[in-house]
Amino acid sequence: MQDLNRLSINQLTTRDRWSLPEAVDGYARAGVGAMAVWWEKLREIGAERAARVIRDAGMAVSGYCVGGMMTARDPVDWRRRLADNRRMVDEAAAIGSSCLVAIGGGLDAGDRDLGAARRRALDGFAELLPRVRDAGIVLALEPLHPMLCATRSVLCTLRQANDWCDALGGGPEVGIAVDTYNVWWDPELDSQIERAAGRIAAYHVSDWLPDTCDLRFDRGMPGDGVVDLRRIAERVTAAGYRGRHEVEILSSRWWREDPDAVVATVVERFRSAM
Ligand code: ZN
Repeated sequence: MQDLNRLSINQLTTRDRWSLPEAVDGYARAGVGAMAVWWEKLREIGAERAARVIRDAGMAVSGYCVGGMMTARDPVDWRRRLADNRRMVDEAAAIGSSCLVAIGGGLDAGDRDLGAARRRALDGFAELLPRVRDAGIVLALEPLHPMLCATRSVLCTLRQANDWCDALGGGPEVGIAVDTYNVWWDPELDSQIERAAGRIAAYHVSDWLPDTCDLRFDRGMPGDGVVDLRRIAERVTAAGYRGRHEVEILSSRWWREDPDAVVATVVERFRSAM
């Protein structure tokens, strides 16, 4: 992967260091023309101002993160979360994002009925779809690594994401976000990427460190871990994906570094390891 026009940086990569306007500015300074936006950063300044900052910089938006998480047992909580997802659909459209990235959500304290939690998550996506369709964006289902099933996402594999896309009608408003960190280990990786042909809405890249010390915040910079990133990029491209390759490094280690140096490292690794 060489063409810088294919690179995007997920704003979580500089989460602890830069606000949304600072990230837009910092990425543009490094010659990066696309980013994914994190909802909390957007809401610090509001959707209108966020849209203006992004538009003025000529920045493309490869995704808005992160929706879904509609697993609450309490119907009032569940409805509240659905309403917040509808708001996120509108925010995604306002900033020109092609998709709202969505995860499954974890289990409530004391909840041991994983099957029911999965049904609630899927029901939530079904209820959200009309709004997604009206907004002209794609709901991109992102399976997370199964070690995060209890806390973040009962949607765990690409097979499950494909099944859920089918269950949701398989229309163009439903897609999948393939994140190398979450799916690299899967024996069905190739066959499920192939099955996802035409519905891959986002491609997220980071590496798995063999001595990882945190399940969420120790992602590796591309090239520092064990994942054959070039091979996965080839598979995703073979499945028809033509969008940005979005580097997404949630890492306490990298958050401590100078953000300009982090971005420079991302650009270098995009050229040498992706
Ligand atoms: Zn991701």
